[in-house]
Amino acid sequence: MIFPNLRTKTTGEFLKLYTNNHEEYHSLKETIKQLHYQFYVITAKNDRPIKVVIKGLPKFTQVDEIKSDLEEQGFEPERVVQLIGRKTKKPLPVYMISLPRNITNLKIFELKTLGYLSIRVEPYKGRGITQCFTCNNFNHTSENCYITPRCLKCGEAHITRDCPIKQKLEQLYCINCQIYGRLANWQGCRCYPKPPKGATTHKNRKTFTNIFNSIV
Ligand SMILES: [Zn+2]
Ligand SMILES: [Zn+2]
Ligand SMILES: [Zn+2]
Repeated sequence: MIFPNLRTKTTGEFLKLYTNNHEEYHSLKETIKQLHYQFYVITAKNDRPIKVVIKGLPKFTQVDEIKSDLEEQGFEPERVVQLIGRKTKKPLPVYMISLPRNITNLKIFELKTLGYLSIRVEPYKGRGITQCFTCNNFNHTSENCYITPRCLKCGEAHITRDCPIKQKLEQLYCINCQIYGRLANWQGCRCYPKPPKGATTHKNRKTFTNIFNSIV
């Protein structure tokens, strides 16, 4: 046995493997790759970035401007994205910032002005559920995915973007449930994971304190 300290747990059709340190993690990943297993990687909480939204800026503010203003104040923004209204599909005066998780960047929660404007900084909540663009399974992103791609439209082994079917589908089909009438990214489908218990009621999940506790 090469990995004597590995802990395992089954969830649905996947088997979860937990490693104890970075070395074990990397060699396990390499081994599984060589065996051509289908797998995905979950990033440890402490390695995930800090994500906040900034409100109070005009909606025509350039993301590059926000980025350099933040850098001037000593932050290390990795990504600045203007959010789009889910229904209207129009840009909102709300900007999502992601920064590496450390004490310096954590101070962004105390930021009150940016470019001479008063702003509000709030934790970014997101949709709560991550769906992989590559395989369309849940709870991981495509950067961490080593599973054969699965197209949302036709279920074949390519990413949805590369699907030869370019027009709108007449007959929708869920590739997860094998049911006609819906796509696998419809939040009402029975295969779509329910948000974690208390995610909406328990507002403090990603607050300053919780992120702080994860760093120290
Ligand atoms: Zn995937
Ligand atoms: Zn396709
Ligand atoms: Zn489904």
